[in-house]
Amino acid sequence: MPELPEVEVTRRSFADRIASAQILALHMGKPLRWPLGVAASSVVGRHIVGVRRRGKYLLLDLDQGLLLVHLGMSGSLNFAAAQPEAGPHDHMDLVTDRGVLRLHDPRRFGAVVWAPSEDSPEAQKLLGRLGVEPLNGQFDGAAFAQALKKRQAAIKKVLLAGDVVVGVGNIYASEALFMAGIRPTTRASRLSRPRVAKLHAAIVQVLSRAVEQGGSSLKDFVNAEGRTGYFQLEAAVYGRTGAPCRVCDTPIRSFLQGQRTTFYCPTCQKP
Ligand SMILES: [Zn+2]
Repeated sequence: MPELPEVEVTRRSFADRIASAQILALHMGKPLRWPLGVAASSVVGRHIVGVRRRGKYLLLDLDQGLLLVHLGMSGSLNFAAAQPEAGPHDHMDLVTDRGVLRLHDPRRFGAVVWAPSEDSPEAQKLLGRLGVEPLNGQFDGAAFAQALKKRQAAIKKVLLAGDVVVGVGNIYASEALFMAGIRPTTRASRLSRPRVAKLHAAIVQVLSRAVEQGGSSLKDFVNAEGRTGYFQLEAAVYGRTGAPCRVCDTPIRSFLQGQRTTFYCPTCQKP
């Protein structure tokens, strides 16, 4: 599943090239997770002002309204001067005078939704409950500590919920908790201020590094330039059940936590 770093890397791969392009056509394929919400022809003639990211949504700002794009479980975007004929898993072609942005999504959990503005009900239905962005300077350590004090759930579940801080998916939550020395099952409200500070720094570090490396969470992830050259994150715990901890040699353990596999080192990570 594309996580925040993959979505950010995708954004960077085409945002500059598509900025100020004019939309010539929008072709939608098979139904995605949500409908577009307007006739595809209604965006023809609009200009693309820029591409932002909010959580795992890409926001294509038009000179009137915006398109929200979500990659779902298996989606990828490719922006190229020309595209081959759409295949069975290509469900959106946004044709512009600078090139064609194509959504490839075999499992069709992705979505392309039009909204009149970011504050509109159409957009807020998708964006309204998202927590703060971890990478743009809005992620404040003191506010993070305050938010966690109110949560009785296990810290990993709180991170995955995305309403405190957005975009910390399964891989990055596991890695950040290892880096901070915190057991994933520890109740969020019980974390001391120094431990929260460590976790805050670890989240920023692990996500920033993943963006620098070009994302890591999908082996076959293709960015918008069509490259598959994504580095697998040198994971400390994720996917390493039974392998020796890189710090202390204790075998890494895993268990099912809220239907997601959680990985941790029983020695390095304290309750
Ligand atoms: Zn260890």
